[in-house]
Amino acid sequence: MRNRIRLITLVFIALSATAIHAQQSLDAMIDRNLASLVATYKTLHAAPELSHHEEKTSSFFAGQLRAMGYDVTEHIGKYENPAFVSYGVVAIMKNGAGPVVLIRTELDALPVNEKTGLPYASIVKAKNDAGDEVSVMHACGHDIHITSMLGTAKMLSDLKDQWHGTLIILGQPAEETVDGARAMMRDGLYQKHKNSRRGRTWRCSGNDKRSNRCGRGNSFGAANNREQRKLSAGSGSNHSRLDSRWQ
Ligand SMILES: [Zn+2]
Repeated sequence: MRNRIRLITLVFIALSATAIHAQQSLDAMIDRNLASLVATYKTLHAAPELSHHEEKTSSFFAGQLRAMGYDVTEHIGKYENPAFVSYGVVAIMKNGAGPVVLIRTELDALPVNEKTGLPYASIVKAKNDAGDEVSVMHACGHDIHITSMLGTAKMLSDLKDQWHGTLIILGQPAEETVDGARAMMRDGLYQKHKNSRRGRTWRCSGNDKRSNRCGRGNSFGAANNREQRKLSAGSGSNHSRLDSRWQ
């Protein structure tokens, strides 16, 4: 019995040491990326774009993911209003057999005048969809969501030898006005990842009646299941580009 306890203790110590070493490795990786991620956050915070106008933000997001080795498609989405251009981004990393996992961030900012006085505070003004000039601010935290997503994408790319499956990174436009999620679904988004086992999102209170905070969730937040079923039958210009990548 004593030898058995000793063996179990040794196995526990070995497993603990392995876990501690893995955690230290992850912490070191985060530390190495932290300075550039903070710089990214400040850049994004100082350059917010309103819903339906996320042109530079989506381009930056797509470029970063492309540089990490992701297969990136831009302009995913079809708005009901044909005057709107969709700036949805989908980035895919295939890494052998395994589950398909989707993680999402929003891209847009709010018509809010920033008064924080921070060195990187937004002084951006832009015309809203009604043609009125408004101040713009990342007052909902989509800047930190995008930054966290890029950090996550980088870590998962660097740790490719430690996981298998398909990773889908999604940049959702027009979250604040809700119609960005709907536009992406009208373009066949759900249809294309119907085999996804998991979906993780960053979302905010605007579309979540149960809480009053930003946080992690399990859905796209802005569209219910009935809409999903109805819209998944839709077709769009990006289908042929995405079909071969998601299968
Ligand atoms: Zn939001």
